Formats: sequence, C-alpha cells, structure tokens
Amino acid sequence: MYDYLIVGAGLFGAVFAREAADAGKKVLVIDKRSHIGGNVYTKNVCGINVHEYGAHIFHTNNEEVWQYLNRFTAFNRFTNSPVANYKGELYSLPFNMYTFNKMWGVVTPQEAAEKIAEQRKEITGEPRNLEEQAISLVGRDIYEKLIRGYTMKQWGRPCNELPSFIIKRLPVRLTFDNNYFNARFQGIPIGGYTQMVEHILDGIEVRLDTDYLKDRELLRGLADTVVYTGPIDAYFDFCLGNLEYRSVRFETELLDIPNFQGNAAVNYTDSDTPFTRIIEHKWFEFGKDADGNDIDKTVISREYSSEWKPGDEPYYPVNDEKNSSLYAAYKALAEKEDGVLFGGRLGEYKYYDMDAVTAAALEAAKKYIK
Ligand code: FAD
Ligand code: UDP
Repeated sequence: MYDYLIVGAGLFGAVFAREAADAGKKVLVIDKRSHIGGNVYTKNVCGINVHEYGAHIFHTNNEEVWQYLNRFTAFNRFTNSPVANYKGELYSLPFNMYTFNKMWGVVTPQEAAEKIAEQRKEITGEPRNLEEQAISLVGRDIYEKLIRGYTMKQWGRPCNELPSFIIKRLPVRLTFDNNYFNARFQGIPIGGYTQMVEHILDGIEVRLDTDYLKDRELLRGLADTVVYTGPIDAYFDFCLGNLEYRSVRFETELLDIPNFQGNAAVNYTDSDTPFTRIIEHKWFEFGKDADGNDIDKTVISREYSSEWKPGDEPYYPVNDEKNSSLYAAYKALAEKEDGVLFGGRLGEYKYYDMDAVTAAALEAAKKYIK
C-alpha cells in the first residue's frame, strides 16, 4: 500500500512526489504518456534537446523556487531574445531601442518617445481592445508590422475583437535591451528538462503508459491519497461538459545544416505566413551537445495556432466566463472527492508557468503532507 499515488509525472506531480518521499512517505507516480516530465519533456535528437511540447524557457523572481530547482539541475545563461521577421525585415523583440531604430531610424530614446507619442495620438481615451492598446503603447507602425498579423494568427480573431490585457505584459523599453523577460533568474536546465525531472524523481517508483482513468478502481485502491494532475473534467467523465483549450500544433524537422536561423525563436509577424514562429532548439543551449561540441545538424519546429477539439492535446486554458464557471462547478465536485487532491495546470484548469507550478506543488505539499 502506498501513501500517495501521483497521477502525472509533470512538474507538479514530480515536485509533490519528491516532497512526499522526503517526508518518508511511500509514493507511486504514474503517467499515461511513455515519458516523464509532462509538457516540459525534452527529447535528445542528434545531441539537441528538443522541446517536444513547445519552447520552454525557465524564468522567475521567486528565489525559493529557483534554489529548489537548482538542487536538481544547473541552469545555463540562456536569455530569451526573440527576433521578429516581417516579410524578410528583421526586428528585435521585445520592443526596445533596437526595434525603434530599425523601424524609424531614431537614435536617441527621446526621438523614439516622440515618435511613439506622435503615433499614439490617434487613440483618445482608454484603449477598448488590443488594437487600441497596442497603438497606444508603441504606435501604428509597430502595430501594423509586428503585432497585427501575429496576434491574429495566435488568437484566430482580429485585434479589435481581443481584450487589451493580452498585450500589456509585453515590455516596451527605451533602452537597448533584448531580454524578453523581466525576471531575476532565467535559463534552461543543462542536460535538458527531462533530466531535471529525472533527478526530482530520483529513487521514486514511476510507472509509465498507465492511464489512471482507464484502470481507476484498481489504481485508486493502491494508495491512501491520490494527487491527480490530469484534466479535471476528464476525471469526472465530462459529466458537466468539456472545458475548452487553445491548442498549438508543431511541425518538427531535422535539417542537415548546422544553422537555420541563428536564434532560438523567430516570430513571423505577417498575416500570410501560416505559422506564428519557428523554434530552433539547439540555440537554447548555444548550439552545443552535452560534451560541449558543435552539432552539425539542427532541429526546427514551426508552430501553428490551432482550434482545439475534444481529444486534442490540451495546452492553454481559456479563461473566459463560460469556461471559468464550468471549472468552478467541477471544482465543487472535486472538493467532495475524499482523499483526492487536484493540482497542476490541468487539475486546476489554470495557466501556470513552470515556476508557478513548482511553487504551487511545494505549497500543496506543505499543506497536505503530514
Ligand atoms: P503537465 O506538464 O501537463 O503534466 C500533467 C501530466 O499528467 C502529463 O504528463 C499527462 O500525461 C499526465 N496525465 C494526464 N491525465 C492522466 C491520466 N488520466 N493518467 C495518467 N497520467 C495523466 N512555462 C514557463 O515557465 N516558461 C515557458 O516558456 C513555457 N512555455 C510553454 C509553452 C507551451 C506551448 C505550453 C503549453 C506551456 C508552457 N509553459 C511554460 C507552462 C508549462 O508547460 C507548465 O507550467 C507545466 O508543464 C505544468 O506542469 P503540470 O505538472 O501542471 O502539467
Ligand atoms: N505579440 C505580438 N507580436 C510578437 C510577440 C507577441 O503581437 O512578436 C503579442 C501577441 O498578441 C501575443 C502577446 O503579445 O499574444 C503576448 O506575447 P507573449 O510572447 O507573452 O505570448 P505568446 O506569444 O507566448 O503567447
């Protein structure tokens, strides 16, 4: 008999399992996939750690989480600095002096500020949607070339029908700083995310290719408490209906050249290119393999935004009113389930970054493991 059966070997499940095992509990982790790591899983292809479920860049201001994960991996010095490609013109992201210089030829921060102020005049009053918010942040030229097409592809709707908050988190800087994140700590686990999760799960029993929902009775009987990190609606057999997700599709290719685009991420910001961006995985680790050697091949993934339908891989929760209230109804059912804790991005139907999901698992462990 186990104390804990953890359903899902993603970050939430792995961190909770580690804490339970360290507290002397008997723990079994299962996952329906054939690998650990959940969506942060990386697969080594010709020496390159390929981010199978989309680019993952660890960044945080949470020192406790940073110290915690550093027990299991060292992080490299990767800094996310995506490049925007608009019909062959390249611009630095996030919006900063390099971007403004390329767009307008301005040289000083004052000239850039004046240019933005001039273009922002067309928006009077509080911005009512993403289009107005974008123009008021960076002016019409940048909106047209770097925001409109990308956002439309990403969200499947025109910018004047999208809420303004989506764009508010993008930094706008009057300095020469291409660092996408305002985070104190940032990097990619040296050796890949899979190896980091392997280390978190060190010494803990893991069974892969095991779907909790397919063998529920038997598996439930194995432990006192279940920590379930799968989709909450699936747990309840969708009895109240399906929660919706936004999905992405990746087309991944191994190329027989050493360098495709010279950067980990290039955003295609025009509306004619069907994909939103291309990730070139080797640049998360500066083009080197585990022994520090250059790699003569490269792996790229084109990323397409796609409409989600039941059965597809769930990626981003949709936090609109309809889905939030459906989730609240499932949560009420979850609270009545004796001996079952729901956690993680699918169990709580919540967009969690990796640092936030680690913090949430540590908190749940503190609260529940006695
Ligand atoms: P998951 O990783 O989804 O793990 C859940 C696990 O449960 C899965 O392995 C699944 O197979 C398993 N499971 C589900 N149902 C069952 C069942 N019935 N039986 C057994 N097992 C089951 N965060 C960042 O900080 N930086 C980034 O750059 C970043 N980029 C992202 C890009 C994309 C495209 C996406 C979608 C997310 C990104 N994230 C990023 C967020 C990050 O992926 C999450 O924070 C993290 O994966 C959440 O971990 P989790 O354990 O909650 O969920
Ligand atoms: N965005 C944009 N052009 C870009 C990058 C981002 O217009 O080159 C906008 C877009 O609306 C996106 C939002 O900024 O949804 C937030 O971008 P972020 O990179 O945080 O999110 P992601 O693209 O990863 O969803």
